[in-house]
Amino acid sequence: MPDLVLRRARIADDMLPVDIAVTGGRITEIGPELPDVAPEEIDCAGRVVIPGLVESHVHLDKALLDRERANPDGTLAGAIAVTAELKREFTVESVRDRARRVLDLAIGNGTTVIRAHPDVDPIVGLRGVDALLELREEYRGRIDLQIVAFPQEGILRAPGTLELLRESLRRGADVAGGCAYNEADVAACRRHVDLVFDVAAEFGVPVDIHADFADDATDPRFAMADYIAAVTERTGMSGRVALGHMTSLAGLDPVRRADTLARLAAAGVAVVSLPATDMHLGGRADTVNVRRGVAPVRELWAAGVTTAYSSNNIRNAFTPYGNADLLDIGLFLAQTGHLSGAADLNRVLAMATTEAARIVGLAPDYGIRPGVPADLVVLSTRRVADVLLDRPDRAYVLKAGRIVARTTTVRQLHHVPRVDGPPTVEARRAVAHPCG
Ligand SMILES: [Zn+2]
Repeated sequence: MPDLVLRRARIADDMLPVDIAVTGGRITEIGPELPDVAPEEIDCAGRVVIPGLVESHVHLDKALLDRERANPDGTLAGAIAVTAELKREFTVESVRDRARRVLDLAIGNGTTVIRAHPDVDPIVGLRGVDALLELREEYRGRIDLQIVAFPQEGILRAPGTLELLRESLRRGADVAGGCAYNEADVAACRRHVDLVFDVAAEFGVPVDIHADFADDATDPRFAMADYIAAVTERTGMSGRVALGHMTSLAGLDPVRRADTLARLAAAGVAVVSLPATDMHLGGRADTVNVRRGVAPVRELWAAGVTTAYSSNNIRNAFTPYGNADLLDIGLFLAQTGHLSGAADLNRVLAMATTEAARIVGLAPDYGIRPGVPADLVVLSTRRVADVLLDRPDRAYVLKAGRIVARTTTVRQLHHVPRVDGPPTVEARRAVAHPCG
């Protein structure tokens, strides 16, 4: 007998709703009208069920700093400078408290896996990594947390960082991070990339680098994609390298861009678009035809590059927006990338589900099929292609078959004083709340 059955779940628009049986935290059977009765059943009543959302790139340690100090000029340099000042004051406790608030938001919004990039440098030391290592245990069973040791200040420019990266991985970080653009010149950027791959090889972990983050490709420090693709092939790291941002691709002429995209695809290097940050920081010097500065998603798809999107930052100097809601970011990406219609929107949704799962190394153990963990989200809409348009309530969020969040609708009475009519207006408000 299964532990749980979800009844009448819409998992694709071209098939009838199905029942999903869950036993021991994993999906055991999928089919129409399964006969087994379970102690717990959820009647989806034709609502959409998707696999848990995967936030493949987010900075939990720097989240929710916008009220402490804003970015003075809205540029990338301004954001790095403001955050460098603020992080001098970080403690393990302060990072943990802010990160916890974001994790709770993310769980309520249907995210079941997060890859986080805490800064690792002589300013903040390992306080961000240590805080997230604690949270990885605290939240086990509600959300999976991967930790990328991220050298935001550079490696060569910030002596001591290389040893801190190694120590992060010794303590249990999962991924070697990089910030290739934040070095003095192209030779140093390449050396930075080499060092990140060396550390990854030493500890047997994947690589995740902030790369190609500019409005155009005129400053070669911001255009490392070709080099990283070559290093990936040389080191046999195909399928284990992700690049965040990749905005300068959009500034290349189409022939060169197609060449770079083909190199990324052949090398098995994935791309994570971060549109909320990139739209906010990009195009700041433009006075006419302000650039969008977002990775060319449709061309990445056509080239066969594994491509996800993610939040990157939640309310800080880099991105003063966000609720850790991947459906919000997905709609924003669709709007900025000229993506519309059922085929495009389903593919954008896949960027935060199956594609992102592949990037964080979960592909064999992810999805809606027998044998994989029951990380599932029941959405209050009845058509998969409408998920990003509706951004529906997350009615149930399941992690390994256990309900970790629900959204309930409450009635609220707003008192509106009027002299000639009824005194109240009734509204309905959805409230997401983590459970367990
Ligand atoms: Zn980032």
